[in-house]
Amino acid sequence: MGRGPALKLLTATKTTQGYRRNDFDWCVEGELVHIGVVCARDENDPDGGCGCGRAFAGLNSHRATTTAMIRDVAGFTDEDYVEALRSSLEQQGFDAANAEHEAALLRALVRDWPVGAIVERRLDEIVVRQVAQP
Ligand SMILES: [Zn+2]
Repeated sequence: MGRGPALKLLTATKTTQGYRRNDFDWCVEGELVHIGVVCARDENDPDGGCGCGRAFAGLNSHRATTTAMIRDVAGFTDEDYVEALRSSLEQQGFDAANAEHEAALLRALVRDWPVGAIVERRLDEIVVRQVAQP
């Protein structure tokens, strides 16, 4: 039964938005997200005025969300994931040389979390907020 491989990946979600007063979600539900760079304004404060220290960045929308869900993305390979990261970084004018490394880090990050886990970001720390029904 070839359902194809599925990768557990970090995706945007609205689930649990509002749990924190400064939550926001400008991403497209279900799009892939990564952990973007934090600007100087917010580098020491996940609740800072910019918001990037508590945000994940949408690979397609190039927008941000404070909530991400671990989802099984069917038919997506390791190579697809690297390519998604690479093209998103390039589109935004960032150096994409680290796309493969970043993909590996993101895969490792979510490895031990169940599908349906909602995670939030506190600067360099990604923590599980809640586990929802996927
Ligand atoms: Zn910022």
